[in-house]
Order: sequence, then structure tokens, then C-alpha cells
Amino acid sequence: MSDKLYPNIINGEYLPAASGKTLALTNPATGDALGAIPLSSAEDIDKAVTAARAALNGKWGRMTASQRTKILFKAAELINARAKEIAELEARNMGKPMMHVMGEVKQAVEDFEYFAGAASKIEGRVPPVHPVFFGYTLKEPVGVVGAITPWNYPIMLESWKVAPALAAGCSLVLKPSEIAPCSANILVEILHDAGCPEGTVNLVHGLGESAGAALVKHRGVNKISFTGGTDTGRVIMKECANDMKRVMLELGGKSPAIVCEDANLNDAVLSSVFTIFYGAGQSCDARSRVYVHEKLYDAFVEKFVAATKTLVVGDPLDKNTHIGSLAHASRLPVMLKFVEAAKQGGGKILCGGEQLKGGLYDKGTFFAPTVIVDLPEDNLCVQEEIFGPIVVIGKFANDDEALAKANGVKYGLCATLYTESMPRAQKFIRGLHSGIVTVNTPATALPGLPFGGYKQSGVGREMAMETLDTYLETKTVLSGVTGKPINPFGLTLS
Ligand code: NDP
Repeated sequence: MSDKLYPNIINGEYLPAASGKTLALTNPATGDALGAIPLSSAEDIDKAVTAARAALNGKWGRMTASQRTKILFKAAELINARAKEIAELEARNMGKPMMHVMGEVKQAVEDFEYFAGAASKIEGRVPPVHPVFFGYTLKEPVGVVGAITPWNYPIMLESWKVAPALAAGCSLVLKPSEIAPCSANILVEILHDAGCPEGTVNLVHGLGESAGAALVKHRGVNKISFTGGTDTGRVIMKECANDMKRVMLELGGKSPAIVCEDANLNDAVLSSVFTIFYGAGQSCDARSRVYVHEKLYDAFVEKFVAATKTLVVGDPLDKNTHIGSLAHASRLPVMLKFVEAAKQGGGKILCGGEQLKGGLYDKGTFFAPTVIVDLPEDNLCVQEEIFGPIVVIGKFANDDEALAKANGVKYGLCATLYTESMPRAQKFIRGLHSGIVTVNTPATALPGLPFGGYKQSGVGREMAMETLDTYLETKTVLSGVTGKPINPFGLTLS
């Protein structure tokens, strides 16, 4: 049993929720108690937004770009120093193998380093206007940012928002997912240790429908930066329209991998197994649909299933584990619903399709990596984000058919192509309706490269200079150069 409380952090103070209510947390791989978070409400959010506004009008708002750079570099150093502690906490909190979380914590370090450097590159422009004027632009922080983050990559996705917002000079209220909230406390502690004045980054725990919704509604918030499901994103975007809050949405995906007839078969199999089963498929960029050229299809499927069967599903703290538990017991019925839809649609389940049972599996919620074939394109499993270890493999006869199938969903986050032909790759790169296209590599997210989607996968880009701009407003300044206002009406005064 653990009775540890991961408190709210508002204006540097460690606080329970105003209501005094808490929510118990459970390790999804073992069922062990992990502690609790405050169940915050509009009252706590209001306090945090007030603190964030005061920071903006106070010490934080007066800091120079160079001071912000130093704080962000220091934060990167401190995250790195506590990487093992953070990774272990996240592994216990959401069941992902610790070795994988370590890589994600390292990426959070790189995000802070990237935006530390970017803080001092914020510049306006001096466009050539008429000679009697001097016109230029100033970049100013957008203000108080509400950051709402999901459970699948906790500290990494928090960093995607916190680092650029701080680089731009904004202050924040962070509301992490109630499913994996623990490491956010370490992040905010680190930011204070790195030199962020009190109130610059505030942490409020609680449910999306109460704490999250109150943050989105709050009139003192200038921008919402959200990562999560497309349906939640839609609700948030509508709410932000009420007072024209700036909004950035990084949403779901149903990303395709396309294996062309000239691809290296073994490389494509191994990479595709990784791109769906990493993190138990709970990634917005999971390549959950694989389309294989008909000439390679049978061999690909046979090798893919064989490789899938060698994956070790187990204890997230064991370094040999490839796939941990689902992040929360509530994810299990979602998986079963999709498997049922596949069966109803005539799909063949070549492996998996069920919860794992026996031994350590009985303590948590583990789902067998699942491979489905022979599904029509309109099946729920092909069209909708599953967010679990379930892949659908289909085939195509030519490049145009592959493109049509790849583009035939409402999402457009990323797409991965396997081919040895540069001209073919170019055709796909231009034809895919997708924010990210990767060629012969599973990787999608590196600091410096914009990350975000077309269509219903979101609005805006993270991790790059394009991101920084969304945390800034542009102020146009125009002054006369003669010291005397022009008099376009040509009137005279006596
Ligand atoms: P949600 O979109 O519901 O949650 C993401 C974050 O938003 C959480 O912090 C959540 O809080 C918060 N939230 C929920 N409702 C509101 C609201 N009305 N106003 C403000 N904030 C809110 O994702 P789920 O965890 O429920 O997962 C559902 C699906 O979303 C998944 O199956 C997957 O398809 C997709 N998803 C996509 C992610 C991505 O990386 N693109 C990440 C996570 C999910 P809380 O959790 O505390 O309720």
C-alpha cells in the first residue's frame, strides 16, 4: 500500500485540492497501490491561473531571453540527472517497459535543450514599407497557457508543451492525465529547482471533465495546448471558440505503413513490428495499418506473425520486456470491442486477440499482441484509432491503390514507407495526406522536426521552431519617421 499524495503545485506551494478529495492510483501491471492525486475543481484551477498571471506580470515576465535559456538548460540537466527515478515511476504508473521510458525521458531532455537554444532566437521583422514610415514586428508571449496532456508518454509530452511555452516567455497551468500523473510532480519540482519563479509553472491534478474542462473554460487562459483523443480535442476546440483562445491540438491517428514491392522484406517486417507494438500500441503515431504489395504479402504476413510471437509481454521493470501492460484496466474492454468488430467483419485473427492470463498476467491488464488480416477497409479496426497492441495487415496491387487506402481514413498524423526506389518514395511523399512521412525508418519524432497532423489528427505542430511561434503573438509597430503625423485629409486648422 502507498499513501503518498502527489500534490498540486500552485505558486510554488504543495497543496491538496480545495475540496480535499483525492483519487487513488494503481500500478496497472501489478494492481499495487501507487498513491493518490488531488481531485481538483474550478476553484483550484482559478488559483493556478491567478498565480500564472501574476508570474507573467512579475519576475518571470521581466526575465531576459538569456535568463530563460539558462533555466531551460538547467532543467534539461536536472531531468537527465533524475532520469532513472522518472523512468521507474512512469513504468509503475502506466505499465510501459522502463527501458523504453528511459528513451522518452532522454527525449524530454533534448526538447528542453532545443527550446533553451530557441528562446534567444525569437525575433521580429523589419519589412520594407513606405519611406515615411518605420514598420516592424515584435514577438510577445501569448500569455497564460493551459497544457493538458495524456497518459501514453507522460513527461515527454509534457515537455513538448512546457519547454516551448517557457522559451516564449509564457507561464503555464499543467493538467496531466489522471491515469499517469506522477512524473509531472518531478518535472514541476525540477523547473523550480532550475530557477523558474513561483507561479511560472503550476500543476493541477484531476479529471479531464472537471479540472481539464475548467482550465479550458477559464477566461484568464490565453492558449490551450492539448494532446489526447480526437473527440476530446473537438470539445476543447469548440469551447476555446467562445473567447477565441489560441488552441493547439495533437490528436489521434490511424497511421499506415506501406511496404512496396521493392522493399527489403526483413527490414520492413522488423520495423513494422516495432511501430505498432512499441508502448503496447498506445502511441498516436502507431503504424496500426500495414499495407503490403501483393507480391510480398504472404511472406510478409508469415514473418510478421512469427516475429510478433517472439515479443516478450511482461514486467515493465524487467529489461528484457518488449511490451508491458495496458496503461489502465479501462483499456481492456476497448481492445475486446475492436477484436469483436474484426470478427464480425470477417477478419482473421492470426495471433493474440485476447487478454493474457496466468502468473503475473493475473495481477494486471496485459493484452496479447494481435495481428488481423482479411478485413474490408470500412471495418472499425481499419478506420478508428484503437490505441492498443492490435495491427491490421492488408494488401495492394499498385502504388495508386496503396495511396488510396493509406489516405482513406479521417486521420493524417504520419505514414511510413518501405521502398528502395527514390522516385517511388517521392510519389508517395507528395501523395500522402499526412503531417509526417518517414521513409525506411520507424522514427517519427526528433526535436527540431515539426510533429503534428493533417485532417482530424490535429491543429499545429510540436517540437520545432513552428511550435515556438504558436506560443507568441505578433505585434505590428508603425511609426512615422518625420516626427510629424501625415495629414491625409489635407485639412487646416486656424
Ligand atoms: P482523452 O483525450 O480523454 O484525455 C487526454 C487528456 O485530456 C487527459 O489529461 C484528460 O484528463 C483530459 N480531458 C479529458 N476530457 C477533457 C475535457 N472535456 N476538457 C479538458 N480536458 C479533458 O484521452 P483518453 O485518455 O480518454 O483516451 C481516449 C482515446 O484518446 C484513446 O483511446 C486514444 O485513441 C486517444 N489518445 C490519443 C493520444 C495521443 O497521443 N494523440 C493520447 C491519449 C489518448 P483525464 O485523463 O484526467 O480525464
